[in-house]
Amino acid sequence: MINTQFRQQFPYFKQNGNWTYLDSAATTLKPQILIDETCQFYQSAGSVHRSQYDLSQTQAYEKARDLVAKRFNVVTREAVIWTSGTTHAINIIANGLDEQIQTDDEIIITVAEHHANFVPWQQLAERKHAKLVVLPLNENYQLEPTALQNALSERTKIVALNLVSNVTGVRQPVEALIPIIRQYTEAKVILDIAQAVCSEQVDVQKLDADFYAFSAHKMYGPTGVGVLMGKSQSLAQIKPLIFGGKMLQNVTEQQLTLAELPYRLEAGTPNIAGIIGFGKVLEWLETWDFQQLNQGLYHLATQMRKRLESYPNIQILGNAISPTMSFTFSNQHHADLATILAEQKIALRSGEHCAKPYLRYLSKTGTLRLSLAHYNISDDLNQFFNALDTTLAILQ
Ligand code: PLP
Repeated sequence: MINTQFRQQFPYFKQNGNWTYLDSAATTLKPQILIDETCQFYQSAGSVHRSQYDLSQTQAYEKARDLVAKRFNVVTREAVIWTSGTTHAINIIANGLDEQIQTDDEIIITVAEHHANFVPWQQLAERKHAKLVVLPLNENYQLEPTALQNALSERTKIVALNLVSNVTGVRQPVEALIPIIRQYTEAKVILDIAQAVCSEQVDVQKLDADFYAFSAHKMYGPTGVGVLMGKSQSLAQIKPLIFGGKMLQNVTEQQLTLAELPYRLEAGTPNIAGIIGFGKVLEWLETWDFQQLNQGLYHLATQMRKRLESYPNIQILGNAISPTMSFTFSNQHHADLATILAEQKIALRSGEHCAKPYLRYLSKTGTLRLSLAHYNISDDLNQFFNALDTTLAILQ
C-alpha cells in the first residue's frame, strides 16, 4: 500500500506512536527529508543573493521557486513570490491593491472564508470607504454561480474566494465562478488555496485567477513559508507591503526604484532554510504517484464519512467526500468531546477554525474537525472511532 510506504517517511509516527494524528488541515506532519535538508542548511553558513560564496544556497533557493512554478503550472518563475504563509500573501495583495480601490467600490468574498481571507479585505474596505460584500452559500455549502453573478457590478474590484473550506472541506466550483467574474467585471480574482494544495494539483493557468495564496506547511513543508503566485501583470501592479533590503534597484535620499518581480515583493532576509527545505519536499513529492496517494486518501475519506454517518445525533457539515470533515453532536458540546478525545491521544481540531463569521452563519459555536493526509491509514480511523465510542459512553 503506497500510503503505508508514504507514512514511513514521517518520523512523527515513530516518536509519537500512541497518538493518532487527524489534524492535517491545521498543519501536515513533516517528512524526514525536510528535517534533514533544514538541518543541513543550519550547519552551513551565509544568506542568499548577497555574496559570492553563498552561490550554492542561492541556487537551491531559486530552484525551490522553479519547483513551485512547475507544480502549479505558473507561467513564469518570476510570478512566484515567497511569503511567510497564506496570511502574509493575502495581506500583500490587500495592501498592494489599495490604490486601485475607490470610495463605494465593492469587494466580494463568501461567508466561508478563513479569517486570513476575510479580515484583510474588511480592513481594506474600511480604509478606502469601500463595501465588503459577504455572499452566502447554498445548501451544498457552495457559492451559487447565479448568486455571484447577481452580486457583480461595475463597482466590483476584487473577488476573493477559498478553493476548499478549512471548516467543511467543501470545494468551491471555481471553474464555473471565475468565468462569470471575467464576463461581467474587470475585478481582480484571488484564490485562497491553502486547503487544496495537499490533495489537489492546482493548475494556476487553468483556474485563471489573478492571485493564489498558500502555505507550505499545509503540504508537508515547513511553517513560516508561503507562496503568493499568479499572473505577472497582476503581480506587477501590486505595491510592496514591506520595504527594505533586496527589493530595490536603486535608492537615493529622494527616490526609490523597485526591483523587478519577484524580488520587489520579497524585502528582507527570507526563511532560507524553510524555502530550501520546501524545495526538497516538492522534489520528493514528484517521486510519488500522486494519483495513487490520493486514491488511498479518498478511500479513507469515504470510510470516515460512512462511519460518522452511523452515529445518532450527529450532523456532518456538507455532503462531500473530502479529507476534511466537520461535525457536531446535538446532545454534546464539541469542547467536551475534544478534551476527552485528547486524553485518549486523538489529535483533532475543535472550535471555530479561524472562521467566526462562517460558524455564526452556520449557527454553530464550534465543531469537531477530522482532517486526513496521505499518511493516514484505516488504523487511524479505528483508533478514532474507538475513542469516540468511549467518549460518548463517558458523557452519557
Ligand atoms: N486559509 C485557509 C483556508 C486556511 O486553512 C489557513 C490555515 O489554516 C489559512 C488561510 C492561513 O494559513 P497560515 O496561517 O499558514 O497563514
